Amino acid sequence: MSDCLFCRIVSGEIPAEIVADNPAAVCFRDISPTAPTHVLVIPRTHLPNLAAVGEAEPDTLVAMLALADQVAEAEGIAGDAEGQGYRLVANTGPNAHQTVFHAHLHVLGGRPMGWPPG
Ligand code: AMP
Ligand code: ZN
Repeated sequence: MSDCLFCRIVSGEIPAEIVADNPAAVCFRDISPTAPTHVLVIPRTHLPNLAAVGEAEPDTLVAMLALADQVAEAEGIAGDAEGQGYRLVANTGPNAHQTVFHAHLHVLGGRPMGWPPG
């Protein structure tokens, strides 16, 4: 049994609201959403961050990006018109507020967002 939270979500051991998946990646709603759409896209393989995914499994990185855009489309936030758009965030390391060390992309949308991020 893995002691990694997101590995346990991939295996079904811990429940999550899964919204989409593909052979390489799984997308589920963040338990503590910070925007009307806030989902996480994670690789099925345990890798500590996005850079590690790119190094170990470049095809999985592409699959994660494809799944993120698929979900953004399904949530109605993927367009380029006024009121549309989404942000992909990959917090990497403690200073960037990474708290779960299984790679994940945050997909955030449904409200205007400021820049620079906090
Ligand atoms: P980060 O701070 O970038 O590592 O993001 C980790 C994210 O995982 C946070 O936004 C948490 O709200 C989210 N999270 C933690 N536990 C769960 C869970 N059991 N189900 C869904 N999302 C979770
Ligand atoms: Zn893991």
